[in-house]
Amino acid sequence: MPDLAAHLIGPHLLDPSLIAATGLDADPILIAAVGLIIAVFGGGFLAVSRRRGGGSKDDGADEAGTGGSTSTDLLDRPGEAPEAPPLPEIPETIEIPDTPEAIAPPLPVPEELTLAERFRQRLGRTRNVLGSSVAELFGRGVTEEAWEGLEEALITADVGVTASLEIVEELKRRSREEGATTGEAVLELLKQELRQALETPDRSLARATDDGPTVWLITGVNGTGKTTTIGKLAAVESREGRTVTLAAADTFRAAAAEQLGVWAERTGAQLVRKDEGADPAAVAYESYDAAISHGSELLIVDTAGRLHNKRQLMDELGKVKRVLEKQAGPLEETLLVLDATTGQNGIAQAQAFLEAVEVTGIALTKLDGSSKGGIVVAVQRELGLPVKLVGLGEEIDDLAPFDPELFVDGLFAGIADED
Ligand code: GDP
Repeated sequence: MPDLAAHLIGPHLLDPSLIAATGLDADPILIAAVGLIIAVFGGGFLAVSRRRGGGSKDDGADEAGTGGSTSTDLLDRPGEAPEAPPLPEIPETIEIPDTPEAIAPPLPVPEELTLAERFRQRLGRTRNVLGSSVAELFGRGVTEEAWEGLEEALITADVGVTASLEIVEELKRRSREEGATTGEAVLELLKQELRQALETPDRSLARATDDGPTVWLITGVNGTGKTTTIGKLAAVESREGRTVTLAAADTFRAAAAEQLGVWAERTGAQLVRKDEGADPAAVAYESYDAAISHGSELLIVDTAGRLHNKRQLMDELGKVKRVLEKQAGPLEETLLVLDATTGQNGIAQAQAFLEAVEVTGIALTKLDGSSKGGIVVAVQRELGLPVKLVGLGEEIDDLAPFDPELFVDGLFAGIADED
């Protein structure tokens, strides 16, 4: 009997990722009840609700006659709608279980990805550019052509021209001296070189040593992922039991404060915001007081990032920082958010911020969507700043402390010898 819900709903609908995709993650009993309705009334009910209700993204499929009336169609992507599977046969009498556990057995807990798995999974694009091509090149032997190809692959992955040339020179020297004559041996040396290029004394996020709240100021060009990174950070921190205040000191875009408000709600953080156009420094000032009265251990301050007016941006950022420092003393972190998909351009952007404020570390976002993950090397080298955090996706859990070991392993996962 515990399998009744699975039988009625179908195992695919009990898949938590699909349930999450449909928004039906509220209550296992509700899911079972919905399954029952699907089974009894079949697709007709759902077809009607689709035509009447939202789901405009799917309307085209409906009109094309590919959309359908069965429960599975709702979960398929548009354009991929298969033929409607036959409805399950309904027995004449159904024994209704009376305990909640029997009606809706607990959903399987989704498998948590370890950090290593997350790096491996999300670095696929850079791996295609770097790992795979390098493996292919050296698969044919350690030749001059392969070295040139490696140089090219490193540059394409945005490691930076100078760094790429230096890495290859060093590899050539080592492979001669250490007798690395196979592709595998060269790959191993390359991994070592990359790890070394990423070495930095300290990547941890600093915290206040006195009673006052820790203050992290977050800067970066609009669109790089500042707000999302702040939200993810707030999630990690509140999960670890810290109370958090978020300050919406980007007062140029009302949407920025609203977006931050959504994250505050999701993570249980306190939000401090003012009207659009208010003085960002005033928001910062008030947020520090609010953090103290709220008993927050951490204050994260969002800032504007409009590059088209560099002078104003610098003045404003400088002022926000000064105001906060008057209250709090030196800020524990001033993080610059860079978008990995912009590659070397991100480094040029970074320079403008470095002129405005003293940055303590980099949060590199969208590594999952970039084939230019080598930018991590370039950022550390050219800006002389540690990459402290990396964004590996858009979801709340997709922020990770940067770990060179896992990063390099991720770049060559399935290619290098250990796999
Ligand atoms: P802001 O203007 O700098 O505050 O940028 P937002 O936080 O609004 O982010 C801009 C877009 O980038 C949004 O669509 C985010 O979901 C997306 N984004 C942010 N971080 C990541 C990441 O690590 N990976 C991916 N794939 N998208 C991200």
